[in-house]
Amino acid sequence: MDAHRLDLAQMYARGEQSFSFEFFPAKTDAGEKGLWETLRRVEAVDPTFVSVTYGAGGSSRERTIATTHRIAAQTRMRPVAHLTAVGHSVAELRNIIGQYADAGIRDVLALRGDPPGDPLGEWRQHPQGLRHADELVALVNSLGRFSIGVAAFPERHPRSADWESEIRRFVAKCRAGADYAITQMFFRAEDYLRLRDRVEAAGCATPIIPGIMPATNHRQIQRFAELSNAAFPADLEQALARATSEADAHAVGVEHATRLADRLLAEGAPGLHYITLNKAAAVLEIHRNLQSRSSHVPSRTA
Ligand code: FAD
Repeated sequence: MDAHRLDLAQMYARGEQSFSFEFFPAKTDAGEKGLWETLRRVEAVDPTFVSVTYGAGGSSRERTIATTHRIAAQTRMRPVAHLTAVGHSVAELRNIIGQYADAGIRDVLALRGDPPGDPLGEWRQHPQGLRHADELVALVNSLGRFSIGVAAFPERHPRSADWESEIRRFVAKCRAGADYAITQMFFRAEDYLRLRDRVEAAGCATPIIPGIMPATNHRQIQRFAELSNAAFPADLEQALARATSEADAHAVGVEHATRLADRLLAEGAPGLHYITLNKAAAVLEIHRNLQSRSSHVPSRTA
């Protein structure tokens, strides 16, 4: 297990890229079937890891835990478990982390989470819980050898007052024991590059992996962009609005994401984290495009 942690940390330290894919826990039997078809297609490209998001409460959380366990038990892929502090006491968080460790899962994405029902609402800490992600990083670290990822925001967290406090808190979260960070989705390379420069200027070398979401559905992406503070570039929005079929919109989103990802890799990004929404077609097309067009994708993923 110790070697497991060293794997991810050493991989980034050696400058190797990671290619990872994010899923959410399915709500229905049909959704579960679709999720597993997508996971099997992703498994074929030998991802560095796959991650499963953590829901706002109740049964969706149980499904996250069950899906993460099943990936560990039934596939060749490394699962990274998202975990949030929302609605959990420290004792509950310890218990979940312990269950992961017992199943051999040593990779956690440690997040504060958003207020249930209103992602942009006022954050309320559980009375016996944690206040910010840095405390969850420290808790996971105190419970054994885990590789720990944290969230990063190329356009600033929606609740941060200014860049100075955003960067100070991000660096504190990394220093609490994070091995890497993954960004919120974004559509302009400059936003990622500015964030990386700011973090580096603050003396922090934690690798920041860009989160890539193909914008293949105009309405859905507009909604996500509103919630996550991600600016939706006018040219992309217009191209999607002009698309007359699903196939057109798919092509627009894939081409934009391919160009964005290629530029990020050329600028030295330590990898890519594809947000799949449990669908394989668009993200695997981007990945194949990069393999054929970009000199920045290692051959082991070809
Ligand atoms: P924090 O790092 O705690 O930051 C939250 C806010 O508090 C920021 O404004 C920060 O500047 C501020 N802050 C931090 N520390 C302090 C401090 N000590 N004092 C005062 N202010 C402070 N959500 C889910 O519910 N489930 C998921 O699976 C999930 N996966 C995600 C994956 C990625 C890659 C990303 C980028 C986000 C994900 N989220 C998920 C969303 C995330 O939980 C929210 O964006 C949340 O609002 C912030 O989480 P955080 O871990 O960055 O929090």
